[in-house]
Amino acid sequence: MRERDRQQKFLVESCDVRGHLVQLDDTWSDAVARTEYPEPVKSILGEAFVAATLLSSTVKFDGKITLQVRGNGPIHLLVVQVTNEGTVRGLARWEEVPAAADLSTAFGADARMIISIEAREYAEPYQGIVPLEGDNIADALQTYFNTSEQLPTRLYLAVSDNTAAGVLIQKLPVEERTYHDADGWQRASVLCETLTKQELCHDDSQTLLHRIFHEERVRLFDAEGIRFHCSCSRERTDGMLLGLGEKEVESIIEEQGKVEIICEFCDAYYDYDSVDVAALFKGVPSAVQQGSDDNNEAPDVTKH
Ligand SMILES: [Zn+2]
Repeated sequence: MRERDRQQKFLVESCDVRGHLVQLDDTWSDAVARTEYPEPVKSILGEAFVAATLLSSTVKFDGKITLQVRGNGPIHLLVVQVTNEGTVRGLARWEEVPAAADLSTAFGADARMIISIEAREYAEPYQGIVPLEGDNIADALQTYFNTSEQLPTRLYLAVSDNTAAGVLIQKLPVEERTYHDADGWQRASVLCETLTKQELCHDDSQTLLHRIFHEERVRLFDAEGIRFHCSCSRERTDGMLLGLGEKEVESIIEEQGKVEIICEFCDAYYDYDSVDVAALFKGVPSAVQQGSDDNNEAPDVTKH
């Protein structure tokens, strides 16, 4: 039995290529446990979970990376967020079930992919926006890499009922290359194309990488765990209500008796009655109330 919910970094030294292999098991099941995702929404979301995890493995950061797709098609929002602590969460929202899984059918013609990084070491959050191009999430993220990173990058993704998995390979920066084999990159790409979805989802990482690269010189690093976890909290919903302002929140209380917030990522439930609301806003100057909503990613929470 292979280890579950792992990310494995490797180096194909003889090709001057680095890579990451990700296999999400419980992480993926937990992420979709609360929502009945129809096909092909589910498989596109699974690809995005793996793609975002692979993306995070290529960046050194202390914070979170968010991959979003926004469009006007049947699926209008998809968002996956990965932290440097190896946690991931995500969701998709759709108005109707797309007739096919290709990106333009699923998200409409003018969809965009937005990559944002909020990290302690960045003075400002980074945001990159690219048109959503290609047939699938792997293609779209490759386009992003090719326009932003300047390092040739390929992704191979697979989603089954219980597992979402993928491999990313990237040509090493010039200063890190040692073999200087002109065919190395091409060879590694072709070798990865021989992978089947079945192997990607079910084989353990050592067997898998050995099978692909057995004629190459490969180095494996220690595998790391990954898990589903949601960062929502009472503190964050407090912040969101403070951002809405006392007047708005009181009007909800007046209408509905209390404010109920359900996290769309994990189903956590937060409620506030009139006493909670009064305590929350007690002594908070209105200037602070306006500025305290730092939740500028996809909405964490929804009002019911
Ligand atoms: Zn949550």
